[in-house]
Amino acid sequence: MEIIKTVAEMSRWVQEQRTKGHTLALVPTMGFFHEGHLSLMRRAGELVDRVIVSLFVNPSQFAAHEDLDAYPRAFARDAALAEAEGVAVLFCPEVDDIYPPGFQTTVAVSELTSKLCGKSRPHHFAGVTTVVAKLFNIVAPQYAVFGEKDFQQLAVIRRMVRDLNMQVSLVGHAIVREKDGLAISSRNAYLSKAERRQALCLWHALQEAKALVQAGERHSGRVAKRVRDVLLAHGPCQIDYIELVNRDTLERSSTIDHRVLLALAVRIGTTRLIDNACLLHGGDKNV
Ligand code: AMP
Repeated sequence: MEIIKTVAEMSRWVQEQRTKGHTLALVPTMGFFHEGHLSLMRRAGELVDRVIVSLFVNPSQFAAHEDLDAYPRAFARDAALAEAEGVAVLFCPEVDDIYPPGFQTTVAVSELTSKLCGKSRPHHFAGVTTVVAKLFNIVAPQYAVFGEKDFQQLAVIRRMVRDLNMQVSLVGHAIVREKDGLAISSRNAYLSKAERRQALCLWHALQEAKALVQAGERHSGRVAKRVRDVLLAHGPCQIDYIELVNRDTLERSSTIDHRVLLALAVRIGTTRLIDNACLLHGGDKNV
C-alpha cells in the first residue's frame, strides 16, 4: 500500500493508474478505523481494481465548539488496517494542501442539509460536500463508498452528485454494529463504561420501534413517543431528534411505509451519537 500525502502526488498516481486501465473506488474517511470503515474498504474492493482510502479530519465540517482537536487519531494503526484490507493508497493530505491560502469556494446542498443533523450543525454538511467534491475531483473514482450510518450525509452527497453531474457512482453500505447492537463509531471511544452501556438505548429504541411496526403500527407520532420513552428509560440523555422521514427527501412522514426511516441523534454525556433504521421489512437489513 502506498501512503500519499500530497494532492499533486495523488493526482499523478491517479493519472498513471488510468493510463494502465485500472478502475478506482474511493472511501472517504476521517480515520481511527473500525469495522465500519473496513467493511466499506472491502465493499470497494469488490467493485474495482484499486481502492483509495482518504484519511482527512476535515476542519471545515466541525463547528468551533465541536471535537476537531480531540477527534481520535491513530495513523500507524490505520495504515496497517487499510493495508491488510488490500487498499492500494491511503491518501492523507495536510489541511493546507486541501485548503491552501486564498481558498474561498464552497459546495453546498441547500434543502436536505436544513433538516435533521443540519439543525444543530448548520455548517457541517457544506464542509462535507466541499471536501468530498474536492476528493472526487482529485481521485476521479468510478465508485465512492459511504456508510448508511450517516444516511443524511449520503443523501446530501447523492444530491450533489446528481445536481452537479459528477461522474461517480455512489454505493451505500449497511450500518456495521457491535455484537450488542451499538452502531460502531469513532466517537464511541469518548464513552465511559457507564455511558457505553447507556448508549445501547439507541439500539433498543430502534428495536422497539420495529416491533411496534411489525405489530401493525403505522402512525409515526406514536412510534416516536415510544422511542422517546425507551431512550429516556436507559438514563438521562439529551435527545437531539427522533424523526421518521422519507429516506430520499428527508421530509417528515406522518405514516410509516418502506421508504420511511427512523433517525435518532442522542447526546449521552458529551458524546453525540446517531443511528437509524428502516422499520418495515424490505426497507433495509439493519435491524
Ligand atoms: P468517518 O470516518 O466517521 O467520517 O466515516 C467514514 C465513512 O465510514 C462514512 O461513510 C461513514 O458513514 C462510514 N461509517 C462509519 N461508521 C460506520 C458503521 N458503523 N457502519 C457503516 N459505515 C460506517
